[in-house]
Amino acid sequence: MNVLFIGAHPDDADIWAGGTLLKCYNRGDKIFIAVMCSGNVGSDHYSRKELAMVREREQKNAAAHYEAQVYFFGYEDNELTYTHDTHMAVIDAIRWAQPDILLTHSPDDLAGDHGVTGYLVQKALISVPFSNMITEHSAYKKRFSVFNCDTYGSLNFDPDVYVDISDVFDKKIELMKCHESQLEYGWLKHLEQVAAFRGFQYGTQYAEAFRGFKFYGYMPNPRLLP
Ligand SMILES: [Zn+2]
Repeated sequence: MNVLFIGAHPDDADIWAGGTLLKCYNRGDKIFIAVMCSGNVGSDHYSRKELAMVREREQKNAAAHYEAQVYFFGYEDNELTYTHDTHMAVIDAIRWAQPDILLTHSPDDLAGDHGVTGYLVQKALISVPFSNMITEHSAYKKRFSVFNCDTYGSLNFDPDVYVDISDVFDKKIELMKCHESQLEYGWLKHLEQVAAFRGFQYGTQYAEAFRGFKFYGYMPNPRLLP
């Protein structure tokens, strides 16, 4: 199967779904990551231009752990909005990856670029199969399952699907360590806290949480998750 994560920033795939992506990779799935924003605000130690380059390199290093193809759209951090350009970009990202499973942020995520990314995916779904919506890649007609991932602080998010990541949690931490510019913000500890909390809910040591996104013709099938 093809698994696509559409994230707001370089690191979101690894933070919110790194364990799930590793498990998908281990069972033979192909992993694709589309990153909407460059991450060029997420540190005070670099210029915007330098930081975008640093974070692209960090995301590529992490993605190498599961041989993901990564596409960077390069929109400015904290400025992502629903426009014709971003709408068409997300349609094309889905056509590029031809997913069976699409993971992305919740439209209800209160972090700006995250919520907008989730909204962009939601609005793209109806257009993906239609050839008259012209993008670089051709129309993709296969139906796929969409799952929203956890949110900052797990706020405003009620999951209905869990993935046991106990056996790959150490590797997930290795993924996060690739995002060196972000480690000062306490992500390693936060990942452990959230994975343990979701694991507590699910009845495993560690878990990642998702919510199936229901849309006409795109009903999520939780059995596709590892
Ligand atoms: Zn982010």
